[in-house]
Amino acid sequence: MSVEPDPVNAEPLDVQQLRGDFPVLQQPMNGHRLAFLDSAASAQKPQAVIDAERGCYERYYANIHRGVYQLSQQSTQAYEGVREIVRQFLNADSEREVVFVRGATEAINLVAQSFVRPMLGPGDEVLITGMEHHANIVPWQMITEVTGARLVVAPVLDDGQLDMDALRERISDRTRFISVVHVSNTLGTINPVEAITALARERGIPVLVDGAQSAPHMTVDMQALGADFYCFSAHKTYGPSGAGVLWGRLEHLEAMPPYQGGGDMIRTVTFEKTEYAEPPQRFEAGTPNIAGVIALGAGLEYMMGIGRNRILDHEVGLLEYANEAIKEINGLRVIGTAPDKAGVISFVMDHAHPHDIGTILDMEGVAVRAGHHCTQPLMQRFGVPATVRASFGLYNDRADVDQLVAGLRKVNELFG
Ligand code: PMP
Repeated sequence: MSVEPDPVNAEPLDVQQLRGDFPVLQQPMNGHRLAFLDSAASAQKPQAVIDAERGCYERYYANIHRGVYQLSQQSTQAYEGVREIVRQFLNADSEREVVFVRGATEAINLVAQSFVRPMLGPGDEVLITGMEHHANIVPWQMITEVTGARLVVAPVLDDGQLDMDALRERISDRTRFISVVHVSNTLGTINPVEAITALARERGIPVLVDGAQSAPHMTVDMQALGADFYCFSAHKTYGPSGAGVLWGRLEHLEAMPPYQGGGDMIRTVTFEKTEYAEPPQRFEAGTPNIAGVIALGAGLEYMMGIGRNRILDHEVGLLEYANEAIKEINGLRVIGTAPDKAGVISFVMDHAHPHDIGTILDMEGVAVRAGHHCTQPLMQRFGVPATVRASFGLYNDRADVDQLVAGLRKVNELFG
């Protein structure tokens, strides 16, 4: 079964019209048009998402699941209805495989603590890659340290591709779990995750794919991916912060103990013994981010309404345009030039520190990120303390890139 909910429409995006959906982009910034190039950190929100969250609070907000009154039932319906939207978005088998969490970070910690930690013993291995976000490093260090297991890292090639030969070699008979980023937030590299899950499957090793940077940019299909777990954060898929999704194969979720205990995740409680609810409720202890989850659904519907293939085509087209345009900037070096890339450009310049570059660009109305992007080991791999990162969302256009390039010329005038 392969469902493609996005409309079949090969027309390029009408970015000018789409920009109108994002109130925050309408304001000037330091006397310039705002060129927002930091969507990899967090995307801006379309009116539909703002309206969904606000509409919940204005019209039908109440706590969910156990209320017998109308408002609570309406809230519950809206919240639970988002599971089906997510199921479609991921082409998952069942909405029971959709767990609402705070974001990708919580999803990875949940899998580490509930699924992986109980299976680790001394000498066992968890395999990750050299381009992971701290969110996909630290949780594995936490559980390997306490169990006597080892964290094994597959290296990154000079152009920012994953070294697949090395990864293959580092899968051993002690590998118990593989966790790999789908798209690098720092390099933009799109990893061959389907090849990795195929390798893992041959050896019976479960895999988590960190989709924080793939869900916002491309169609993701749990039937094709071959992973056991996948996660993303709503704030990068044009939704609110504080909400996100863990998708897991039902047989795993059913076998996993809860991550946190509390209300809403139980069937019965006595002082002697508690019986847990079935997944996904088993993993949603306490009052969740009700309006946030509802707005998460609105963000996914917004993306699917536009068509994720069109979003990807648009962003990759913009990346190509930007790659050409920045060639004329003296002393600029791009970090991460893999052939298969999403709309992210990380770079350093000969004469200016990334933070100074970020500050000067801000004066020109250009919002970029400067720093290690929560990938310090990757910075060490490339021998830089920080990079400047420009990243694209569906609302970016060539004018944003032109403004970036004009700003970089100014950096060279001041520092060159
Ligand atoms: N993984 C990747 C690749 C990311 O880019 C991010 C966010 N920068 C995360 C995980 C963590 O996401 P969050 O902070 O929303 O939990």
